[in-house]
Amino acid sequence: MNVLLLGPPGAGKGTQAKRLERTHGLVQLSTGDMLREAVASGSELGKQAKAVMDAGRLMPDDLMIRMISQRIDQPDCAKGFILDGFPRTIAQAESLDEMLSEKGLKLDSVIKMRVDEEALVERITGRFSCANCGAGYHDKFQRPKVEGVCDTCGGARFTRRADDNEETVRARLAEYREQTAPIVRYYKEKGALTSVEGMASIDQVADEIEARLPT
Ligand code: AMP
Repeated sequence: MNVLLLGPPGAGKGTQAKRLERTHGLVQLSTGDMLREAVASGSELGKQAKAVMDAGRLMPDDLMIRMISQRIDQPDCAKGFILDGFPRTIAQAESLDEMLSEKGLKLDSVIKMRVDEEALVERITGRFSCANCGAGYHDKFQRPKVEGVCDTCGGARFTRRADDNEETVRARLAEYREQTAPIVRYYKEKGALTSVEGMASIDQVADEIEARLPT
């Protein structure tokens, strides 16, 4: 089963994709995570990605399309995948259709997460994660049970994404409205879109998504 999660930054795509990895044995394909790995490795791609991500802009379509196509060809994706953060433009969505049909694959579910955009800035600027296991937290909504200690692994180091500051978040939301929101209509016109209430609790959103997956 191949699933596409759509929604603005901070909608909870990554959180729900990680759930689906656990509950359905699918693989999360996050182009943002792939780019952050490139930044950490210090490669040429990473240097380009850092400048673009810090500005809250988007990376070139051709590069992202190649990146996701190569990733889908990896053997672990054969059991199914969740696209998180790709496609982000109409050109990426069209290329994805073409690419999947060439590979003999298709999207089984396209799920849009409905959110209140005003609440997103607070959601994003407050989030941080365990540097060891990646468990997600929030300054206001989800602090660790013991201050400074990860609930999941006991780690004591936490990180924040460089692009989760207010100025960059506002630029990312503007990019979403201009470049990414139109693809919601693209999938709607194909009759392939369902949506869930993304402002509910993590468990409630997960239940709603579950109810929309093919049986
Ligand atoms: P994300 O982790 O999905 O919020 O992505 C973080 C940043 O990576 C974005 O703000 C973009 O700069 C870049 N990025 C991630 N995915 C894409 C994509 N499909 N196309 C263009 N840029 C992307």
